[in-house]
Amino acid sequence: MRKFLAIAIGKLAMFFSRALKRGGGTALPGLLAQIIDRKILAKLTSNLKNGVIIITGTNGKTTTAKMLTDILSSAKMDVVTNQSGSNLSRGLVSTLIARSSLTGRRTKGDVGIFEIDEATMLEAVPKVDPKIIVVTNLFRDQLDRYGEIDKTATLIGHALEYAKGTTVVLNADDPLVAFLSKFNKNAVFYGIEDSNLNDASGFDNDNRECVECGTKLDYKARYFSHIGKYACPKCGFKRPNPENTVYKITIKPEETNISLHTSKKENADIRLNVPGLYNIYNALAASSAASFLNVTADQIKYGLENSSAAFGRMEKIQVKDKYLYLLLVKNPTGFTESVKSIVSDKTINILLALNDNFADGTDVSWIWDAEVEPLATKTNVVIASGIRALDMAVRLKYAEISPKIIQVESNLSKALEIGLDQIPAGETLFVLPTYTAMMELRNLLVKQGYATPFWE
Ligand SMILES: [Zn+2]
Repeated sequence: MRKFLAIAIGKLAMFFSRALKRGGGTALPGLLAQIIDRKILAKLTSNLKNGVIIITGTNGKTTTAKMLTDILSSAKMDVVTNQSGSNLSRGLVSTLIARSSLTGRRTKGDVGIFEIDEATMLEAVPKVDPKIIVVTNLFRDQLDRYGEIDKTATLIGHALEYAKGTTVVLNADDPLVAFLSKFNKNAVFYGIEDSNLNDASGFDNDNRECVECGTKLDYKARYFSHIGKYACPKCGFKRPNPENTVYKITIKPEETNISLHTSKKENADIRLNVPGLYNIYNALAASSAASFLNVTADQIKYGLENSSAAFGRMEKIQVKDKYLYLLLVKNPTGFTESVKSIVSDKTINILLALNDNFADGTDVSWIWDAEVEPLATKTNVVIASGIRALDMAVRLKYAEISPKIIQVESNLSKALEIGLDQIPAGETLFVLPTYTAMMELRNLLVKQGYATPFWE
């Protein structure tokens, strides 16, 4: 009875908030339903045939969730996901109520993929009773001076203790994530086994301490930051052997090729549309969860090769009290799509960075084939930057953006500083760079401690 009432009230709230156009009704229906029936989340998720997969970790949750959604869809599963921004339990309840029958006996969908912040894991796990939990990585950020990340790991560990029947998919190459296997008997690992890969340079000061005994870890291979093949010289804590691996990698600006080996002992050569070692980890995490659900290597390949999750497509980086959204642009279609995706009713602030290095394409005339006109009436701060800043400025002028507001600063570091200076606190600067400009900007942000490095 409670369940029926919770669903009915939830559906009613959803109907009214949609009718009143109050944000599409993401939080309120879930809130009301949970007040009426505290166990509503577990009741609704128990209807999903393949259960719920939770994805957590510091970075890569959204991309991993997107890749896994594409893989499972290619295996003909109907996937229920939570919209980003509503990743608290009431958002999940709202999502499920929308797909539930009024009696709550049926929920449309085969499997749920839910992105959960590390901090809410302890609350969410007992409520959802997931079949699989995927942990991507645990990075310190610039605010982590007091070992907050270790506390976060412990918090996730306690959540894993609750989930006794849950399979936990862990990144073997991240010592803090691998350590989480102490909290749960059903751990499956994934990791990179490409012996050509070892870029320890520049990370000497970032040696992690052993979670067990506090001794500095030794690295046999270091891929980036604290990710790699490590062992504690004192207590024997070391990288576990992963069942799911990527064993051959080639990275080019426009695509990444990997050879995947799954825990079901199948192999596939896969072309990813997204560059960077970081995204290989996301793909590997997604593949490992899919493999556990008996999805074949061929289906994984198909799902990943057709996945539209893209590097630099809406990567959000916080810089003090302001935000940067990075959107890689490399061709007219991509440029047009990026412009479309950032234009809204609000005026926006933009930094466009055009380079003409080899990896960008040395001919920049493609910017004339992109539709940047939607920016004309919607912009406040406009900065053209990069080696070909002037070409970009001319393009913007022809898109009828007033030349008075277009600022030209070819130096990327300075352009970024100007952009951030000119926008108010809490606001966003949309940054649309070509490939090498993106790399330069990201390196800058990594050095300043605002972004996590990608391996190049
Ligand atoms: Zn140790």
